[in-house]
This record gives sequence, structure tokens and C-alpha cells, in this order.
Amino acid sequence: MKKVYEHSGIAAASTQDLLRELLVRLGEDPERDGLLRTPERMQKSLEYLTKGYNEDPDVILQRALFNVTYDEMVIVKDIEMFSLCEHHLLPFFGKVHVAYIPKGKVVGLSKIPRLVDIFARRLQVQERLTVQIAETIQNAIQPQGVGVVIEARHLCVMMRGVEKQHSSAVTSHMLGSFRASEKTREEFLALIRNGKNGSSF
Ligand SMILES: [Zn+2]
Repeated sequence: MKKVYEHSGIAAASTQDLLRELLVRLGEDPERDGLLRTPERMQKSLEYLTKGYNEDPDVILQRALFNVTYDEMVIVKDIEMFSLCEHHLLPFFGKVHVAYIPKGKVVGLSKIPRLVDIFARRLQVQERLTVQIAETIQNAIQPQGVGVVIEARHLCVMMRGVEKQHSSAVTSHMLGSFRASEKTREEFLALIRNGKNGSSF
């Protein structure tokens, strides 16, 4: 990976040193008991939450393609999603709903949540996450159409006390028949709504 500060001393510092320095700049004493191992934990946690950079979604999907004659809508809804917003590195989280209508090929069902995780475990904005999930499925199996809807709440909005009314956001991306046919789109949206108990995610 390219180092931005190639020529300054920062590049030579370990990740934990950088995080320890960050604690100092925030006004903390990194030597006090509760914080001694915090840089180590932060590093592990940040690496885990961004491990999607080391995973190739196309490879995952290619290993789980099956030929079928089925051509009804396949829907995987209420997939739990946790990601980090790229503007504040604060979590946004919620539910992802994915549907597609096959044209000769389907993806193993367990791979859809896996795909969501790969893209969610990168620094994201909700809109791009939505598009990436839809387009990766489109490219992998060339279905008649794909629809992705994400409902999420953003801690960068909620915790900072700004625009509380916008703390939850819904994004969608429709391709192929989901874009062209209102009936298909409506069927998808009705299936998502179906079974909701009134409380939003
Ligand atoms: Zn943010």
C-alpha cells in the first residue's frame, strides 16, 4: 500500500505508536491503566473493520455459481450490515435487502451476506455500498435484473447531535428489469415490507 507520508518520520512509526500519539492529542494519558492496551485493541479492531480491502468479491462469487432454469425473483432480506463512514470513521449500520431475477445462473445464497460484509468492511458511504453490491451481482451472473435497498443509521449524525431527523437513511439501486419494470420493483419492495413489525430495523 502506498504511504502518503513516505518522507516524514510518521511513516516509520508503528500503528500503535500513531494511535498512542492520537490519544495524547485528544487530551488523554495513554499510560494510565485503562488505556495501556487500547492502541493494540484499536489497531486490531480497525484492521478487522476494514478487512474487506483484502477480499475480492468477484472471486467469492465465482466459486458459488450454479446453473438453473429458475426465473423467479430470488430475495435475501434483512442482512445485518455494519460499516464505517469514510467521512468520520464512525459506524453506520442497518439492514440490506438484495433481490435478483436469474437468467440461467444463481449465486449460492450464503454468498450474498458475505458480499455485503466484504464491501461493508471498508470505509464507505451508504450510496456507494448500495451500488457496489448491486453491480457485483450484475457482473457475476448477468441476471435479468438486480435490486438492492439499504436502510441504515449513521452514528456520525446521531452522536454528534446534528440533523437528528436524518439519522436514518434509505438508499436503493435498481438494475435491468428492476429498473425497467415498475411491477418488478414493487414486488421487491412489497417483499421487503412484508413481515415488518412496525419498528424500523
Ligand atoms: Zn460520517
